[in-house]
Amino acid sequence: MMMSRIEEYLDELFSEPKCELNYTKDYELLIAIMLSAQSTDKRVNSVTPILFEKYPSLSDLKNADIADLEEIIRSVGSFRKKSMYIKGISRMLDEECGGVVPTDREYLESMPGIGRKTTNVFLSEFYNYPAIAVDTHVERVSKRLGLAPKNSDVLKVERCLQRKFKKELWSKRHLQLVLFGRYHCKAVKPECINCKLQDLCKEKRKNI
Ligand code: SF4
Repeated sequence: MMMSRIEEYLDELFSEPKCELNYTKDYELLIAIMLSAQSTDKRVNSVTPILFEKYPSLSDLKNADIADLEEIIRSVGSFRKKSMYIKGISRMLDEECGGVVPTDREYLESMPGIGRKTTNVFLSEFYNYPAIAVDTHVERVSKRLGLAPKNSDVLKVERCLQRKFKKELWSKRHLQLVLFGRYHCKAVKPECINCKLQDLCKEKRKNI
């Protein structure tokens, strides 16, 4: 009952949820997801067209001048570290993978700046693999709605959500939870007044 209400509401709000990062190739998506850590999709979308136009191949990216990369991606934050990651990821893809982002989860997670969350988002978005990436929005919303215990770490939240949602819907539910957290159930001042899940929510009283 509780799950069907949550799922119906997510479907009502976001019937066809889409990833909001712009990309045209597999490695562009992987790099964009890496860049989005502790940043926003909007900021990432404002730098990636410049980055990928100036460095249009993996070979160009791996050989790029680090100071120039830093300048291009400065506004996304952590730009020094992320510039190194761009070069490292591009080098591995170019030299070890024939230029194609592989589906091997272990390999992906061995790349610089790529963790479990980035891997899940990539596999689910690009290869349509069932995966639930737990970012800050998914974690917050899941805990507010009691889909995962409050003291869970991200891995536990992921496991709880995997148990609660049908596997074929994992990727869709992930995107819906991200969008619900981004536009409705925000970290600060969530829009509880319009939320149809108030009666299920563990946080709404503080916010209304
Ligand atoms: Fe989020 Fe408020 Fe809805 Fe709770 S009632 S799920 S805090 S928007």
